[in-house]
Formats: sequence, C-alpha cells, structure tokens
Amino acid sequence: MIELEYDFPLWRPPSEGENLILQASLGCSFNGCTFCSMYKTKRFAAKPLERLFAEIDQAARDWPDAHRVFLADGDALVLPTDHLLRILERLALRLPNLARVAVYATPVNLWRKSEAELAALKAHKLSLIYLGIESGSGDILRRIRKGTTPQSMAGAIARGRAAGLKISATVILGLGGRRRWQDHIDETAGLINQAPPHYLSTLQLRLAPEVQARFQEKFGEPFEPQDDAGMLAEQARLIAALDPPRPIIFRSNHASNALPLAGTLPKDRPHLLAQLGAAGRGEIRLRPRIVRGL
Ligand code: SF4
Repeated sequence: MIELEYDFPLWRPPSEGENLILQASLGCSFNGCTFCSMYKTKRFAAKPLERLFAEIDQAARDWPDAHRVFLADGDALVLPTDHLLRILERLALRLPNLARVAVYATPVNLWRKSEAELAALKAHKLSLIYLGIESGSGDILRRIRKGTTPQSMAGAIARGRAAGLKISATVILGLGGRRRWQDHIDETAGLINQAPPHYLSTLQLRLAPEVQARFQEKFGEPFEPQDDAGMLAEQARLIAALDPPRPIIFRSNHASNALPLAGTLPKDRPHLLAQLGAAGRGEIRLRPRIVRGL
C-alpha cells in the first residue's frame, strides 16, 4: 500500500482541477523559457514505471470512478512512446471508466513523435494536448528563448490535429511589453488563424522574482510591462483579429487574468469585445490583484 505523494510544485491547467493528476515525469525537459518559473527547482526525470504503476493502482482504489487523468509534469509527452503506452494501458486496466488522458507538451515533443506514434497514443485515450504557444511572433519567441518558431508551432498543431488529438493552446498577454505588443498580438492572431487549436486560452504575463533578471537580459532591450489597460487592449486586439476557419472555444479563466471571458470564436466575438469595452470604461470590475495567482 502506498500513499499518493506529489513532488511539488505541481502545476496543471485550470480545466484539469477536478481530474485525477499523476506525475509521469518530474519537471520540464526543456526548462529554458525565460518567463517561466514553474520547474526551476526540479531536475527533469521520468518517474520509474514501477513507482507510477503503484500510484495508479492506489489512485484506482481510492477513486475507481475517475474518468479523466492529467499526466504531469511540464511535458510528459517527451516520454518515449512505448513508455507512454504502458502508462495508458495501466490506466485503462485499473480505471474502467477512463475516457480521456491529457498532457502538457512542447512543439518539439509533437514533432519527435511519428504520425503512427501519435495515432497509437490517441487509440489508447491520450486525447488532449496542452500546448504553450505564448506568441506567434518569431521575434518574441526568440527573445523569450522559447526554443521554437511560429512555423514549427503551426506544424505541431497540425500534426496533433491530424492524429485526432484535441489541442488546447495558451497565449501570454503582455509578452511583447509596451514596445512590441502590437506585433505580438497581430502575429499571434495570424498563427492561430493559420493553425487553429480546438481550445484557446489567454493568461497575463507575471514574472516571478527569480526569473526577472534573466528575462530582462535575454529580451535584449528594456522591457516595459503592460498594465491592466494594456492587457485588455491586447485581449481586444487578439479577439478582433481571430477569424479561424474552424470554431475555437476561447477562455481567459486562468487565475492571472484581470477579466475572465468565455465564448466560441468567431461567433461570440461581438459579445466578448463588448465585455472588454465595458471593462475599459469601468462598468465591469476587474478581478482584484490580490486574488490573481500564477
Ligand atoms: S513554459 Fe513550458 S516548455 Fe517552457 S520552461 Fe516552462 S514548462 Fe518548460
């Protein structure tokens, strides 16, 4: 008998809050993005399968009806496909109602799997990928050391979609600072219109103290952060420019956001822009800073 013991810090998307979370890996295999402090205290490692199987068995005894599982940490899709398949088989064996397994992934993780591997993972119920786009601007991706390009990001989304995976992408408002915000938003909208994910969420840049010096140094010029008015202007410009060929479910429900929004784009664009306009005029109260987390 083992206890489920998490290796903290533990991060998961807001929409996984009600689901079973298991750490298939610890940390992030890349761990280089300058804005990100999530796994700076961890060295990347795959959790030994025997240990993870024991945790799955324990979780199944405690929660036999669990039907959605999130495999943490930062990019569990980096694990070899046969390793992931063994995890998915164990989950299916122990959780009879298993409907969906989700992971965080980087574009590189998606590119390193063949189409057949992605299809095999999908066939074993790994069906949702959380992907940090952050920005569609190649210039900003370089400045934040994202380790990828907009073209690679678009290709990764297309590969995932072709395998039948659902893609949930995030964009970080404020990442271009006051000087580059328009390029950041316009090029991000261009990327999303070209390669639409199924779900899109925005969050607001908040730099933890321990990453600020490196972020500033690598950005290559003085970085002037956006205030809430600037963030709302970015949100409005992004929503106005999004015209995807397939509907996207849009959320800004991350705890960092000043204004939570929800809708389907492009259908709900007028309603979302009206809410942003009302917030700008002070008719809708912004979420107090004290309750905004990372
Ligand atoms: S943003 Fe994602 S890929 Fe980049 S360091 Fe953080 S967890 Fe890793």
